[in-house]
Amino acid sequence: MHFASGVVRPPFEAACGFLQITSGCSHNRCKFCTFYKDARFAVSPWEEIEADLDELAASPWRYYDRIWLQGADSFVLPYDRLMRVAETIYEKLPWVKSIGAFARVTNFRNKTEEQLRNLAAAGYSRLTVGVETGDDQLLTRMNKGYVSDEVLEQMSKVDAAGLTWVGQFVNGLGGHGYGSRSAEETARVYNQLHPMMIYTASLTLFEDTPLYADVQAGSFVEANERERLRELKALISRLECDTVFKCEHVSMPVKIAGRVPRDRDAMLSALDEAIEESYDGRFERYRASIANL
Ligand code: SF4
Repeated sequence: MHFASGVVRPPFEAACGFLQITSGCSHNRCKFCTFYKDARFAVSPWEEIEADLDELAASPWRYYDRIWLQGADSFVLPYDRLMRVAETIYEKLPWVKSIGAFARVTNFRNKTEEQLRNLAAAGYSRLTVGVETGDDQLLTRMNKGYVSDEVLEQMSKVDAAGLTWVGQFVNGLGGHGYGSRSAEETARVYNQLHPMMIYTASLTLFEDTPLYADVQAGSFVEANERERLRELKALISRLECDTVFKCEHVSMPVKIAGRVPRDRDAMLSALDEAIEESYDGRFERYRASIANL
């Protein structure tokens, strides 16, 4: 199998078979990101994709019915290429039923609603989209390459096409004192959309990121763990879209999961308890113990 960097996928996609059709990230400029630094963005040659599918087809290990496409944003590829990938996957691996991938918000610019509908019909589903926050100032500061108007434009098109997706939220992204604004703006955006899940990770800085350099220079102060819990409360309190909300990533010292609005009160109570427990520094110690994501 050809993998330009280690397999990166959300925890809930662990049971997939893995295939690389792009490597690296076409953007590669987000200030907090540590991923894909060992691989420049590249589109895999068709012969390489076919060879990997032949290798998967020949393997006796077939305990998966979903393929996860490696790389930060294989959905940047044009519609025709993605359809050809799907057709070839099903031809060579007939037991596969669906295909997932990370996607950037900007990956949908070059696709019409009808094309996205066709991609959904071809089995693409539960794309994980790194929205991160709905706050324009923060999106710009973190070099995400889009602002909230584009999140609303592209993801509304994805919703209308019936292509299911998971939105990522980064808790603590705005740093000290910024949590309530990020929560309010993120709720404003998600309340106009239909993600099947909002999946939360918490900002965990590593030395090789530009944001870490900002911390060293004094231009960015990390949010403490209590602030982050309050930010989560502010977000969950405001969410009106009917969706699953999960904080189960390794970067989350407090794990909660439920459906909003149905389980809102239970999740808020769990966060209140966590805030009470947060005064002994246990969550700071947890974050300091994270070696990688
Ligand atoms: S956060 Fe995602 S889009 Fe941004 S540089 Fe990292 S992999 Fe690329």
